[in-house]
Amino acid sequence: MKIRIIEMDGNSMRFVVEGIDPSLANTLRRIILSEVPTMAIDEVVIIENSSILHNEILALRLGLIPLKTDLDSYNLPEECSCKSEFGCPLCRSTLTLDVQAKDDVRTVYSGDLIPEDPDVAPVSDKIPIVKLAPGQRVRLEAYAKLGRGKDHAKWQPVSLCIYRYMPQIEIDEERCNACGRCVEICPKRILVEKDGKIEVENLMECTLCRDCVEACGEKPPAIKVSWDPKTFIFDLESTGTLPVERIMIEAFKVLDKKFSDFKETFIGVVHESKED
Ligand code: SF4
Ligand code: SF4
Ligand SMILES: [Zn+2]
Repeated sequence: MKIRIIEMDGNSMRFVVEGIDPSLANTLRRIILSEVPTMAIDEVVIIENSSILHNEILALRLGLIPLKTDLDSYNLPEECSCKSEFGCPLCRSTLTLDVQAKDDVRTVYSGDLIPEDPDVAPVSDKIPIVKLAPGQRVRLEAYAKLGRGKDHAKWQPVSLCIYRYMPQIEIDEERCNACGRCVEICPKRILVEKDGKIEVENLMECTLCRDCVEACGEKPPAIKVSWDPKTFIFDLESTGTLPVERIMIEAFKVLDKKFSDFKETFIGVVHESKED
């Protein structure tokens, strides 16, 4: 397996993985979505809530606020030495909220949450939680914990994680008459005409729609579109909880551990059956 990072911009990343088959590409995608831990509010103690929202809805909205995640300082609750259901400072971080609307309607935003640890704060201050009419108040304590997307979508580290085959485009220069029909029809502007020849630019943007092949007047078409069955383009977009490169590193760690566990179990079973 060979990995190449093609571009990285803020919370987005595009990388290419060569030498794998679709099942492994899908395994990687599923691990990114469901097994890379992030912080999210998991328990809320509502002290006062005179807003229009029921406590449960308020708690659900709080859970869905992406929080900055410090994977090096916190443990997953099930792996923490405290073994406490309520948690300890190594597996739990508290955020408090106390907002009252005075004379005007007041929107409560994620930025009103006060984190005890600044490294476990909302990714954005601008996420609306609830609107308060004059006199209404919300007062609560929220407990954030590490968790995985397979248990609840609020722990998913990404808002986008897709992969697709690496496109391959071949032009038969001997039969191509440079009519330019394929250039005109391509919705992604991948084909260009240069000095009477058709060239391919931004290959990774090709959607494999094959419009260019259908537009070609030659029989058979002078342009061939296919894909490399062993190479995949991945597009990731972090919710901001973790840097995208860290999401990728953690996903490969999980994948590596799964292989090691499988190898150990499998070799153990084979060994036992041989002894029998
Ligand atoms: S397959 Fe579609 S996107 Fe790709 S080059 Fe042809 S027309 Fe453009
Ligand atoms: S449509 Fe066919 S013949 Fe025309 S430029 Fe494209 S590949 Fe060449
Ligand atoms: Zn603990």
